[in-house]
Amino acid sequence: MTAIETSNLTKQYSEETALDDFTLRVERGEVFGFLGPNGAGKSTTIDIFLDFIRPTDGHAVLADCDPQQSPQKVKQNIGVVPDDYSLYDSLTGIEHIELAKDLHGSDEDTDTLLSRVGLADAGDQPAGSYSKGMAQRLAFGMALVGDPDVLILDEPSGGIDPNGVQDMREIIRSEAESGTTIFFSTHILEQVEAVCDRVAIINDGQLVAVDTISGLRDAF
Ligand code: ADP
Ligand code: ADP
Repeated sequence: MTAIETSNLTKQYSEETALDDFTLRVERGEVFGFLGPNGAGKSTTIDIFLDFIRPTDGHAVLADCDPQQSPQKVKQNIGVVPDDYSLYDSLTGIEHIELAKDLHGSDEDTDTLLSRVGLADAGDQPAGSYSKGMAQRLAFGMALVGDPDVLILDEPSGGIDPNGVQDMREIIRSEAESGTTIFFSTHILEQVEAVCDRVAIINDGQLVAVDTISGLRDAF
């Protein structure tokens, strides 16, 4: 089943073609890497997915919804770990999850959500005391509230140590196994190599290649 589909997606700014006839398909439960250098068009793509901006041409479908036609439904079905997520230093992990639940109108079990991101024992500590890796996992936990069909990771920080990357990998894997589609946008090759099933390479708003990691290795 297709989880994300873009058809001839194009975004033209006055002087700049940010996305140029971009067509892509991601299947349900895939851990899909979206790899490209700065300025490639990754943020533009994600902004269209979230209906923050409208494409000049073409369209996107996520979890069976077109963001332009049913923005509210798309927001319910998509979780995002933004690149610039911010936490409240004085609020605990539990309070952050509770906040996300309130915003979402969800009554999920907070401890279960914290366990899913490996923070079961740290839930009552203030986020200000968390390591970078723990903070990232909390942002991840907040994005999982509402059980999204698609989880977008927008340029997860390069500041996480190798253990942090390993933790992320395990969380991503277990979420994907339960059917969540992961869309992992990054400019760091090692991050997609570590976690992704398939990778799309984007450059100058165009799709350069889509393949498995091993397929890409053979091709380049
Ligand atoms: P990435 O996320 O891969 O770094 P972006 O999607 O942010 O790439 O940008 C793609 C291209 O579109 C870049 O050349 C960028 O300068 C341009 N761009 C992005 N947003 C705007 C905007 N609001 N106005 C004009 N150009 C933009
Ligand atoms: P990211 O680091 O996530 O790719 P950027 O730094 O490219 O984000 O862009 C940050 C913001 O600036 C976005 O809202 C984007 O639309 C805007 N932007 C990016 N490039 C340009 C540009 N050339 N002209 C105007 N706005 C831009």
